[in-house]
Amino acid sequence: MMNRSRHAAPPPSAALKLALVLSLGCASAQTPAPAVNRFDGARALEHVRQLVAIGPRVAGTPGAAQARAYVGRQLKALGLAADEQAFETTTPAGPTKMVNLRVAIPGGQGPSTGSGQGRLIIAGHYDTKRFREFAFVGANDGGSSTAFLIELARVLKDRTNALPIELLFLDGEEAVVDWYTGNDNTYGSRHYVEAARKTGTLAQIRALVLVDMIGDRDLRISRESNSTPWLTEIIWAAAKGLNRREFIDRETAIEDDHVRFLEAGVPAVDIIDLDYDAWHTAGDTLDKVSAASLQAVGDVLLAALPEIERRLVKP
Ligand SMILES: [Zn+2]
Repeated sequence: MMNRSRHAAPPPSAALKLALVLSLGCASAQTPAPAVNRFDGARALEHVRQLVAIGPRVAGTPGAAQARAYVGRQLKALGLAADEQAFETTTPAGPTKMVNLRVAIPGGQGPSTGSGQGRLIIAGHYDTKRFREFAFVGANDGGSSTAFLIELARVLKDRTNALPIELLFLDGEEAVVDWYTGNDNTYGSRHYVEAARKTGTLAQIRALVLVDMIGDRDLRISRESNSTPWLTEIIWAAAKGLNRREFIDRETAIEDDHVRFLEAGVPAVDIIDLDYDAWHTAGDTLDKVSAASLQAVGDVLLAALPEIERRLVKP
């Protein structure tokens, strides 16, 4: 988390599908395959389990590399490829190598797709916060967003998307020492936006939807007040339509990766539940996260997506 004030791919072969089921473990193998295009919270939770099993996934450490390898394997099984955006940055702990992962999901029609049409980014961070005193595994903070994006990839690759969608796994969201000192936070999103600025491609980013800490069993997501209002409205209207009471009508301001995009003029929304007792504690473990909560966010975002797309592709 953050801070309070703070190519077209062929459908997977039967063998690949089997490989995915096996990679998800026996529990999933014994349940019926979900319908195509429905987000499966149980699959997402299994990804959280696998990420937590890696241990701490601090930016610049082998744990983060293992998390990237896990994401890469899952995407490959779906017939998708993750491109690495590697960079070196300066942190209070010294020079640190970080890597954002980008996954392109096709969308739109005709030759004007891609750079002409721009893209929607759906993002989350995969790094976990560094703690010396204990092993912080970040089931919710770092794990839930990463797992969510992997499961979303499975759904979106078979969906008819109105414009290209990029799934973005951000590194270095967490402060190395202190969020408030200097720019000791959101390293991955800072780099991503700066790289787009340097190449003159910022305008191709039509909007950003960020998810962070969306797995809490007791999920209550307030509207985030820095976020672009029309994006928030569409998402909360979708939640109301689905009677998803996890999305509540309170408002709170949270600084997170989406702010870097907002600063660059990109419409952005943060879907986050920072009301989490285990936040940045040794207690942020798998038992605090539920498939039902991940399901709620998946259902709402997919219900909101057509309206978000309508806003972005209209003349
Ligand atoms: Zn955090």
